[in-house]
Amino acid sequence: MSFESLGLVPALLRALDEQGYTQPTPIQTQSIPLALDGHDLLAGAQTGTGKTAAFGLPLIQHLATSAQEVSQRGPRKPRALVLAPTRELAVQVHESIRGYSKYLRIPSTTIYGGAGMGPQLDALRRGVDLLVATPGRLIDHMDRRSVDLSGIEILVLDEADRMLDMGFLPAIKRILAKLPKPSAGRQTLLFSATFEESIKQLAMEFMHEPQQIQV
Ligand code: AMP
Repeated sequence: MSFESLGLVPALLRALDEQGYTQPTPIQTQSIPLALDGHDLLAGAQTGTGKTAAFGLPLIQHLATSAQEVSQRGPRKPRALVLAPTRELAVQVHESIRGYSKYLRIPSTTIYGGAGMGPQLDALRRGVDLLVATPGRLIDHMDRRSVDLSGIEILVLDEADRMLDMGFLPAIKRILAKLPKPSAGRQTLLFSATFEESIKQLAMEFMHEPQQIQV
């Protein structure tokens, strides 16, 4: 199996080649074609399986190849949101996605707690297509109206079980309430090491006919 046969564009293939990724991992082989087809995904994968590229590559390709909705034109609003449980993971996911998208223009930023609001506000004001965030700090920005989530086309919940363990369910629900509905074409990719009842409930409530994959 090759990355090319999964349907990725040349700009991504080139970046992957330079990073020494010669073939997709099992979670990437399963998730990339489904995600590129626009399906919602419930993916069971631990850290170290290559899950970041499993959601990051289709997300980048979507942003790079599909135009923003005409009705959404105007000041740039984020089109993709990745929620991660911790600052460390948010930074790491953002770094990985920047590496994969080095031959594409995907303005992005990361927002997390424990850091000053100023630079995050500046980045949001300049406008990004991709936002990688921890739930708590994203809520702070929503309360200040410094972020507009009405243009989100793809939502990723990374390490969803950890986010729920950390008590982020109310924050995640508040964030979800501000996004376009799945029926409006929003795609959701949920990655989790485990699938306890609370995750399944979240999926039933906020996802559209998710395809389940597991490694
Ligand atoms: P992750 O599970 O996303 O944290 O990825 C674990 C590690 O595997 C990271 O260092 C990635 O850069 C690396 N990685 C992910 N996919 C591949 C691949 N297809 N080939 C080689 N390394 C990979």
